[in-house]
Amino acid sequence: MKNIKDYNLDELKEEFINLGEKPFRAEQVFKWIYEANVTSFDDMTNLSLELREKLKNNFTMCIYKIIKKQESSDGTKKYLFDVLDGNAIETVLMDYKHGKSLCISSQIGCKMGCKFCASTGIKFERNLSSGEIVEQVLAVQRDENIKISNVVFMGIGEPLDNYNNVVNAIKILNNQKGLSIGARHISISTSGLVPMIYKLAEENLQSTLSISLHATTNEKRSEMMPVNNRYNIEELMQACKDYIKTTNRRISFEYALAKDNNDNLEDAKRLVNLLRGMNAHVNLIPINKIKDGKFEKSSNESIIKFRDYLNSKGIVATIRRELGTDIDAACGQLRRKNLKE
Ligand code: SF4
Repeated sequence: MKNIKDYNLDELKEEFINLGEKPFRAEQVFKWIYEANVTSFDDMTNLSLELREKLKNNFTMCIYKIIKKQESSDGTKKYLFDVLDGNAIETVLMDYKHGKSLCISSQIGCKMGCKFCASTGIKFERNLSSGEIVEQVLAVQRDENIKISNVVFMGIGEPLDNYNNVVNAIKILNNQKGLSIGARHISISTSGLVPMIYKLAEENLQSTLSISLHATTNEKRSEMMPVNNRYNIEELMQACKDYIKTTNRRISFEYALAKDNNDNLEDAKRLVNLLRGMNAHVNLIPINKIKDGKFEKSSNESIIKFRDYLNSKGIVATIRRELGTDIDAACGQLRRKNLKE
């Protein structure tokens, strides 16, 4: 059966017309799902019994079950959801001054194989559908009785490798008749799938693009991120420059600092050269050491030196607050542990 959450509002109206229903009924259902966050068609009390039956016969609601929920001492909460086909995904809720931010997954497993990531080693199973992506937000809102204000596609999976479903999920999250999460409060992170960056530039989405850069030479980047063998740093930076030109939006560059690997002054100098003249922001991330992982976290002193050098050269750089380190909040870790249990 079809998942009703896979449809953006325009598509849902089409579905309703095909079922012989008026499009405004689709809007009513959309509001029940995304505003009221109901878990059953029976709860949609302004619909006739006949229509509710019709919906039950044609669609599922895709309601996740929580397999596990961990809470960190800093308030970060990590969910492992049962996606109803025997697979599990993870979602992390973070509490920031500016609101509740949710880090969501876009795929079950990941093909990219970044060496610093705990998802590496988890076999890629499949893409999540748009509805499965969006249900992460709804499930957490139901569980915590809160409103999510920011969504970041930084959980398991390469969002641009599941391009159509991710873009459609953003349209659903963003719709003012539903969850109404501003596009500027939605961030898409990519390991650097260059053709998809060009495609995204044409969508006119107003979301934030975040590039996982992590190294400044092709040798080091290929070692950390095999995707660099397909699209090297020069191609990636050109795509970023073109993206900024087309969208007029600033790009965020993620740079995870690994001890004695990419955290010295020479790396900082090369990073300044790569970003010179670009409308960019750098997020420095103290790397989370994963079990069997090759990379270790840089010292606080090196991280601060790195940031100060970038700032002194006019590049806005901030150190990301480490959240949820006591609950394995780096992507993939909870799932992998759970699978071993
Ligand atoms: S860091 Fe992201 S893109 Fe890289 S392997 Fe992990 S989930 Fe995939």
